[in-house]
Amino acid sequence: MTSDAPLHPWQWPEATWREIVSHVRAGRSLAPRAWKGGARCAVALSFDADHETVELRNGGESFGRLSQGQYGGRRGSPRILRLLERHGVRATFFMPAVAAMIHPDEPRAVVEAGHEIAIHSWIHELNSKLSYQAERDLAFRARDALEKLSGQRPVGMRTASWDYSPWTLKIVREMGLVYDSSLMADDEPYELLEHG
Ligand SMILES: [Zn+2]
Repeated sequence: MTSDAPLHPWQWPEATWREIVSHVRAGRSLAPRAWKGGARCAVALSFDADHETVELRNGGESFGRLSQGQYGGRRGSPRILRLLERHGVRATFFMPAVAAMIHPDEPRAVVEAGHEIAIHSWIHELNSKLSYQAERDLAFRARDALEKLSGQRPVGMRTASWDYSPWTLKIVREMGLVYDSSLMADDEPYELLEHG
């Protein structure tokens, strides 16, 4: 009996699962031989300032959940900024462009306090549901909007919901970004390998 039904994962030949896992994968470690000042480790602090976009990206119009998002911009981020200032620590704020446009003072405050503003989608959309062209257009628009609002050109990206499409790494390269912070293969920085 033959069937055109797609195979279940447990029926996949080895080449199939190897192709899937090798699409984007951690390569060699980019950790320095020694951390500055002989420190045991280095810590990168980052915050995803999604705010209202978590509700908006699903097409939601719940005023209750939107108020939860507004809380982030109105209370959450200012508190985090004060905390970082108190400890003299710098961090990265990944911000959807729409969240930055709703809270235009936030990207400016982030940069003025010496922190980094970085790309986190247009409206927290899921890249894996988009075509290459749509994902690319939104990524470039998001970067331009953040640059306009903050005065700083973003050099890094974290995809919304860590949702990585087959095109994401190609787009990161086309944008000339310095780093991507979407994947979770290590707790030290690493090189990204595309198809090996
Ligand atoms: Zn997010």
